[in-house]
Amino acid sequence: MRAAVFTGHGNPLEIREVDEPTAEPTGVVVETQACGICRSDWHAWQGDPAWEGRGFEDGHVFGHEPAGVVVEVGDEVEEVREGDHVTVPFNLGDGTCPACRDGHSNLCDERIPFGLTPESRGAFAERFHVPWADYNVVSLPSGISPVEMAGLGCRFMTSFHALVHRADLTGGDWVAVHGCGGVGLSAVHIADAVGANVVAVDLFEEKLDTASDLGAVETVDAEAVDDVPAAVRAVTDGGADISVDALGIAETCRNSVESLRKRGQHLQIGLTSSEDAGEISLPTDRMVAKELQFVGSLGMPRPRYDEIFRMIAHGKLDPAAVVSETVSLDAVPERLAAMTDFGTSGIPVVNEF
Ligand SMILES: [Zn+2]
Ligand SMILES: [Zn+2]
Repeated sequence: MRAAVFTGHGNPLEIREVDEPTAEPTGVVVETQACGICRSDWHAWQGDPAWEGRGFEDGHVFGHEPAGVVVEVGDEVEEVREGDHVTVPFNLGDGTCPACRDGHSNLCDERIPFGLTPESRGAFAERFHVPWADYNVVSLPSGISPVEMAGLGCRFMTSFHALVHRADLTGGDWVAVHGCGGVGLSAVHIADAVGANVVAVDLFEEKLDTASDLGAVETVDAEAVDDVPAAVRAVTDGGADISVDALGIAETCRNSVESLRKRGQHLQIGLTSSEDAGEISLPTDRMVAKELQFVGSLGMPRPRYDEIFRMIAHGKLDPAAVVSETVSLDAVPERLAAMTDFGTSGIPVVNEF
């Protein structure tokens, strides 16, 4: 089968024939219909801190925001059937450890980051394998297309979990979103849908325009102002209740913390890149003096998908709204490389294999 394969950190991916996956006893094989192209793929490709040392080898396949149809089922699988239209969360859980039993599959002790570790080949390929299928596979409600589902992939559900489950977000709160890439635009749309007033921050006017279309009531052009946090505090009359770093660089992280009003919550969604190497210094005294909270958030637990599906079914959320383009598998190397200069907007999705 065809796949876009890794050939070394920073080297262009190559379209190549690779071995077909086969179903393990508790796994299934899924034929890929769509897969989002994500900055996490880019970080892993570059070898940034969270992925460095994982030992990706020539031939590895990225891609962790899939939708597709089950084509092969392992002998021990009880619930998933051939022909099911499905997706999987990008953090695969074993279903048996204390975190999984507690409903936090995203924090599974044996967590397999789908496509983002050498032991798991991802979905920039015609087919992919899912281990522990009965626990991880999510059936798509009718009416959700593969492209919409790919749009819902890691960035959208990561933002949903952060804002809806991890933060104390209530209607009328000011939510500042720093960085309007795929995860940031998803955060803007979700925060708006649950009743917040959103202020979007980015360096690119075009991304701010998209944020406004998705519900941001205020925007701050980080290129045009000297002091981003002061600009956010000005438009929110004292600071945001919740502020999101949707990029993961020192500047957006600190800007986010400094945008908060007293007792505000900073949500860290973006992981760092090699420049910060996993650590960012913070305005600690300010955090104490204002009783600010720093909240980390990782993906979304498998059992929480139904909440998003219900909001989609009733027209409150539209993951397709953050999908910027659909491309073929052949375009994956170039689209991933375009992320180096932030040359993509929203969520590009592969839907031709
Ligand atoms: Zn587990
Ligand atoms: Zn992702």
